[in-house]
Amino acid sequence: MNIILMGPPGAGKGTQARFLVEERGMVQLSTGDMLRAARSSGTEMGKIVADVMDRGDLVTDEIVIGLIREQIEIGKGNGFIFDGFPRTLAQADALAELLEATGLTLDSVIEMEVDDEALVARITARSTCGACGEVYNDATKPQPADGECSNCGASDFQRRADDNEDALRNRLMEYYKKTSPLLGYYYAKGMLQKVDGLGEIDTVKAGISNVLG
Ligand code: AMP
Repeated sequence: MNIILMGPPGAGKGTQARFLVEERGMVQLSTGDMLRAARSSGTEMGKIVADVMDRGDLVTDEIVIGLIREQIEIGKGNGFIFDGFPRTLAQADALAELLEATGLTLDSVIEMEVDDEALVARITARSTCGACGEVYNDATKPQPADGECSNCGASDFQRRADDNEDALRNRLMEYYKKTSPLLGYYYAKGMLQKVDGLGEIDTVKAGISNVLG
């Protein structure tokens, strides 16, 4: 099964994708994670995208489509979760072509619905483990008092450079201008399913399981 998780920044796509990886053996393809990895390893591409990401603008279609193409060619696993991709209609078309060329189909597009105020609160409280990517939230899931990640034991908590109010406002505007039209596109294809992303993590998780069956 191959699915897209859609929703504005902070909707919880990454958190829910991790559950699907653990429980269903699916492969998470997060273009945001791939771009951050390119930045921290100092590649040419990482240098090109750094400022764009910090402002909260979208990286070019060419770069992100290239990243996804490489990963689709590497391995199919138990299905892909596209997380943060596609974000433009050009990316959606490219994904359709890549899947077709590989003999894969897209089974479901899940929209995680969350209102903007909740997003600002979530994002400004968010941190992650630099080693394994476990996500923490100052209010609902604080970093463990012993300073060690509850998932992997590392002590390298990080806050994303673009998790501040200015960049977030821009990321939201990019989402509404360029990404939200994809909801109509997938709706027209009969693929869009909505899940309330505002509830407790486990409730959202159950909502997604329900949709995927
Ligand atoms: P994310 O981790 O998905 O919130 O992505 C963080 C940042 O990476 C975004 O604000 C963009 O600058 C860039 N990015 C990630 N995925 C894409 C994409 N599919 N298209 C364009 N830019 C992207």
